[in-house]
Amino acid sequence: MIVETIAVGTELLLGHTINSNVARIGTRLADAGLEHQYSTVVGDDHGRMVAAIRQALSRADAVLITGGLGPTQDDITREAICAATDREMLYSKEYADRLRRWWAARGREMPDSNLRQAEYPDGAELLDNPKGTAPAIRLEVDGKLIFALPGVPAELEVLLDQYVVPSLRERSGEGVVLSRVIRTYGKSESRVAELLADVFEQSGNPSMAFLASAAEIKIRLTAHAATAVEAEALVAPFELAVRERMGSLVFGVDDETIEHILLGLARDKGWTIATAESATGGMVASRITSVPGSSKVFRGAIVAYQEDVKRTNLGVGSEVIEEHGVVSEPVAIAMADGAAEALGADVAIAVTGSAGPETLEQAAGTMVIAVHTPEKTMARTLRLPGDRERVRTYTTTGALHLARLAMMGEWWSGQPKSGRWV
Ligand code: ATP
Ligand code: MG
Repeated sequence: MIVETIAVGTELLLGHTINSNVARIGTRLADAGLEHQYSTVVGDDHGRMVAAIRQALSRADAVLITGGLGPTQDDITREAICAATDREMLYSKEYADRLRRWWAARGREMPDSNLRQAEYPDGAELLDNPKGTAPAIRLEVDGKLIFALPGVPAELEVLLDQYVVPSLRERSGEGVVLSRVIRTYGKSESRVAELLADVFEQSGNPSMAFLASAAEIKIRLTAHAATAVEAEALVAPFELAVRERMGSLVFGVDDETIEHILLGLARDKGWTIATAESATGGMVASRITSVPGSSKVFRGAIVAYQEDVKRTNLGVGSEVIEEHGVVSEPVAIAMADGAAEALGADVAIAVTGSAGPETLEQAAGTMVIAVHTPEKTMARTLRLPGDRERVRTYTTTGALHLARLAMMGEWWSGQPKSGRWV
């Protein structure tokens, strides 16, 4: 089944809003084995929207439109669909009542302009929007499907998963699609592809794809089959082959993030975690505390930016700083040991570095991570390209991954002590 998307909104053309909706839809369509052939971005202009919808209908089996369903005059997706498909606009009293109840339940009076959201093209079905007021629209035109979906990303996502993708799948009659994403860290995308070259050669169903995202490499396996059990049976041997080949570089699957995995590992071991951060200013702690329930494991954080704070709060000796410089493995190790002591944690993650753009005592992008565990404390120096934000983000991700490896006792067995890690 061929699907085409239209993102509506002048703000997208002006670059004020990044078109993340189409990225989201694209991922979901690919996972479902549906072919996304064209995507158009069009401003809030009636004539151009009508032309875009007509063109999309001329070459796709289904057209997904996002945005322009709101109550204001510039939200004209409903009108454009009517014009593009020669349909009357109707009005749903039932949906109007529902809108009134939605506002009343929040103790507010509904502005009359909101009643626009109860309008729909003749023949369309209104789909409930669990996260907002604008209903989505499903319309069948000459055997083709049009979905009009809200622009707000969180609302779009729910409707996409609950209605749109399942109904496109059903319509395409193609059975089940199962995607498994295997998440790895520690080797570049090209190195991962080399390691898995022979596995890749045998792939087809499932298909295999490599995706790089912020220092992590994902391997996506997608199988098509008549039933979920058959799809799982197709994926299983490939997943096993990938895991065998990649070993502990595989840290999770599907939606499992490194912070989730790290906290799970700490819970299993009965260990607590603390952080001591200089150049990342609390970003490692922020990632850890983003996970619900992290308070059971996470003890706390010390952001020690200046040297005297490192000395007084983490007990880093002046002589260590003088001899090695503040961006050094001995200082990172002293920070990790100091945080474990000061915060009473079993594991402590420390970061020091020079995130740039100015060159301090070390070249910009020189970042040092140390991890203290009940067994030992180890440090590693990363030399990262890119601007300050990129360096800090990659370092944060790296620190979480190195903590995982250290907690598994893998760091010192399998990996070189220092060197470029990503
Ligand atoms: P609402 O019912 O909330 O008014 P809507 O369907 O009218 O939704 P818009 O008014 O076009 O949608 O956009 C609502 C919000 O969603 C805006 O903040 C807009 O920037 C954002 N948005 C719209 N389209 C996209 C897109 N393609 N990608 C990411 N964000 C988007
Ligand atoms: Mg808009």
